[in-house]
Amino acid sequence: MVPPSSPIPLVSDDDPAGVDFESPTAPSPVVRAANVTKIYTRGSDPGRLGTLLGRPDAPRVRALENASITISTGEIVGLAGPSGSGKSTLLHLLAGLELPTKGTVTFQETDLETLSTRERTRLRLEHVGIVFQRFHLVESLSARANVALPLVELGVGKRDRRKRATALLERVGLGDRVGHRPGELSGGEQQRVAIARALVTDPTLVIADEPTGELDTETGQRILNEFERIADDRAVVLASHDRPTLAISDRIVRLKDGMIRSDGNK
Ligand code: ADP
Ligand code: MG
Repeated sequence: MVPPSSPIPLVSDDDPAGVDFESPTAPSPVVRAANVTKIYTRGSDPGRLGTLLGRPDAPRVRALENASITISTGEIVGLAGPSGSGKSTLLHLLAGLELPTKGTVTFQETDLETLSTRERTRLRLEHVGIVFQRFHLVESLSARANVALPLVELGVGKRDRRKRATALLERVGLGDRVGHRPGELSGGEQQRVAIARALVTDPTLVIADEPTGELDTETGQRILNEFERIADDRAVVLASHDRPTLAISDRIVRLKDGMIRSDGNK
């Protein structure tokens, strides 16, 4: 679906990734949002230009206001806050699914705004694993084919795809459900398929929107253990209302009315 393109230059030659000259032991930032504001107009996403040109009397929602956050390798950041506080909006910006109305999002060394839509899609495909609040599984495909889908887009061969998708499904406890379609799975099982799909490309950044919302306590705990394991050499951001989920975070960022109210220890 995404045509092959040249690799996106995430770093220039004279500025190698992950090297922090001031402090060699500091974790390297994976993604950074700086003073991001997101305004939605009339239920659609008008983008930056649309916001400038949009009718001034059109209803607007300021979903996020002047928010700044940095997420580094090896870190799990929990995003907390009541419904409507801007958690999903912030996750979408960090994932490069949408661009902010104001402010910048930098993935490793790349300002996402400088990329074309196609380059942004490619960067997401290669480096970001996303677990959506509503899963977004393809109904006509088996669990294994759903998990393997990003690998199809990356041009990975069929045997490898099957192997990796099966291994991921086993890791989330669905080794005996690989042939089931989403409609034949419970909500919790669909959620685990979505988690397996987010991990199959071995992403640098994992973003999960209420990833344990549909799970019973025991399965939820298993998935949380999995997130802890994958965060060893990746950056993870989890939006959640759920105490046990927030408890595995190294840091909790609290949102209210689109603004970051605190960013620090629990
Ligand atoms: P949360 O995930 O914390 O529940 P959201 O980021 O989904 O919050 O939403 C923040 C605010 O932005 C809410 O008031 C919501 O109604 C609004 N919003 C989110 N997405 C859109 C959109 N596509 N169009 C218009 N308003 C939106
Ligand atoms: Mg949400």
